[in-house]
This record gives sequence, structure tokens and C-alpha cells, in this order.
Amino acid sequence: METHTATVGKTIIGANHPVAVQSMYDRPVGKDIDSVIEKLCTLKALGCDIFRFTYCDRTDAAALKQICLRSPMPLVADIHFDYNMALEALDLGFDAVRINPGNIGAKYKTLEVVKKARDLGRCIRIGLNSGSLPKNEKGLSQHEIMTRTALEYIDWFESEGFFNTVVSLKSSDPEETYLAAKAFAENSGYPQHLGVTEAGSVISSVVRGTWTLGRLLENGIGATIRYSINGPIESEVQAGVELLRTLGLRQGGVRIIACPRCGRYSFDSEGFLAQVEPQLLTSGKSACVAFMGCQVNGPGEARNADLAVTGIGNAIFLYRKGELYRKVDKENALEAFWEAFGQL
Ligand code: SF4
Repeated sequence: METHTATVGKTIIGANHPVAVQSMYDRPVGKDIDSVIEKLCTLKALGCDIFRFTYCDRTDAAALKQICLRSPMPLVADIHFDYNMALEALDLGFDAVRINPGNIGAKYKTLEVVKKARDLGRCIRIGLNSGSLPKNEKGLSQHEIMTRTALEYIDWFESEGFFNTVVSLKSSDPEETYLAAKAFAENSGYPQHLGVTEAGSVISSVVRGTWTLGRLLENGIGATIRYSINGPIESEVQAGVELLRTLGLRQGGVRIIACPRCGRYSFDSEGFLAQVEPQLLTSGKSACVAFMGCQVNGPGEARNADLAVTGIGNAIFLYRKGELYRKVDKENALEAFWEAFGQL
């Protein structure tokens, strides 16, 4: 579905621009700025496009200012309740603020944020959650209230000449999230950030997110996405990138194939993959790499992989496009694997 565009830092989202993957810092920012920047660089290499920090404590201001200056990708400040924090976040250099006007209080407070974002050329995400909606006085369903409320806030924003808006309507109920995003897209051309909120640990979040976001993205709805996972931030980014790739909305990167293993299994493909996966996924290369549990079927099943690894006993076999390339001892397997990967 055709939407307007929105600009977050140097990243344009909406219309025909690539769908962006987002994630969020999962702890207080602390004082160790270098380690935060290192984390952001890793997440960027994994495929993250936009990143969010909570700004709820003024003692974080100095660190966040530095992080805004050094970040490898656009940053969003997450603000609740206090509009002054949103104004300050814009001063700190955040490319966008995410606010829910419903918990900011009086309308003029939200408009102060809108005016400042407009004057500085920043973006605002109107982030509505099912848990913080106006009272349901007319017996409307959750998704109808979210849609109607977002459209009302957009009117406020437009009355101040502000159009650099992204909207997210999130529920912990996947179907309500789906219906809200669909209804909003039918009623507005503003780009949407999609996500099922509070979706649990990795498995439940990936299932709920994929079912919900996949259907929306397939119908052209969604400019940015986030998997909300009670787990590593890297998993959020990895899931987002994998979904976009599966839908054909993102190309490139390392595509991993790994057999589930069965009674024939003679190689610890799980352990080997765990050792190399983080580095593979942040390598910046585009390649298909397979980890197969046995030498009997593995090479055939991984025929299309650029590089495949399997083994039996102390012997490890490396294949290229299904053809045996090298046989090495277990203790030299990692070195041989990286050497072969480096040649792709
Ligand atoms: S590659 Fe081997 S271990 Fe893996 S599923 Fe196929 S037959 Fe089983």
C-alpha cells in the first residue's frame, strides 16, 4: 500500500523504501559509552536500521548525547508521561521521539513536542499500545479505538504543519495488532511501524510476530518492524532480517541452512553453528552456508550452499556447491571453515 515517507536521520521509510528493522536497548544506558557503540555497530552489521533508547532519567543525558553523535544508525528516544523529556531528547540529538500523546497529558504538551520536532526537522512516532488507550465508551474493539485515536493525534500534528510522522498500533494480542495496522492503512497514508508488543521469549515472539507482521508486509503494510523479544537484542534483529528476507523484501547477507539432525547424525552441527553464527551474520558477505549433521545426506541436501560443513568422527568435510573441497581434522575445522568462508 502506498504511503507517505518519513525521515529518521538519514533513513527514509515508507512508500517504496526498504522496510527497516528496529530494535531497542534493553537496560539502563550506563556510563560505558564505548560498549554501547560497539553493541550498536554489531546490531547494524546484523541488519538493524533504526535503534531506540528509553530516555527517562536525566542522569543519562550526557551519555545519550555522545551516543547520538557516534551512533552508526538513526536513534529514537522512547518517552512516556513527561513532555519535557521529549523536548530534551530532541536537544540531545535523537532523530526521532516516540510518544503516546495519551499519556503525555494536556494537548498543549504534545503540541510543544510537535513544534520542536518540526523546527528541528525530526520525526515523531505516535506509539499507541493497547494497554494505554482512552476509555472504551462506545463499545468499540481495541483495534478500532487505536485506529481512531491515532487519526485524531495526526490531526493535531497536521494542525501544526507537522507531517514527519510514523504510527505504531501495538497490542500483545496478535490479531488486534493485525487488525489495527490494517484498519489504519485503510484510513491513512502515514507509514507504520509494526510489532506485536510484550510477545514473550524468543519462540513465542517469533511465532506471533511472524504471523502478524508477515501478513501485513505481504499486503504492503509496514515501513519498519520490530520483534519484541524477552531475550537478546540480537535475536530481535535476526528475526526481523530473516522475515524480510523470507518475504523477498531484503536481499543479501549470510543465509544459514542447518539440518534438524536425525538418527544418522555424526557431526555436532549445532555446536559448530553456535560457534560461528555471530561472526557469520555480521560478516557483511552475501552467501549461503550449510551445517549438516551427517556426510550421508548432508552434502546432497546442501547442494546449493556456497559452503557446507559436516563430519564423521574426527574427520570434518567442507563442501562447495555440493562438491568436496577439503577434509580436515576436528581441531583444524574452525580455521579451515573460516579460510574457506573468506574465499567466497
Ligand atoms: S543431513 Fe544427515 S543428520 Fe541431517 S537430517 Fe539429513 S540425514 Fe539426518
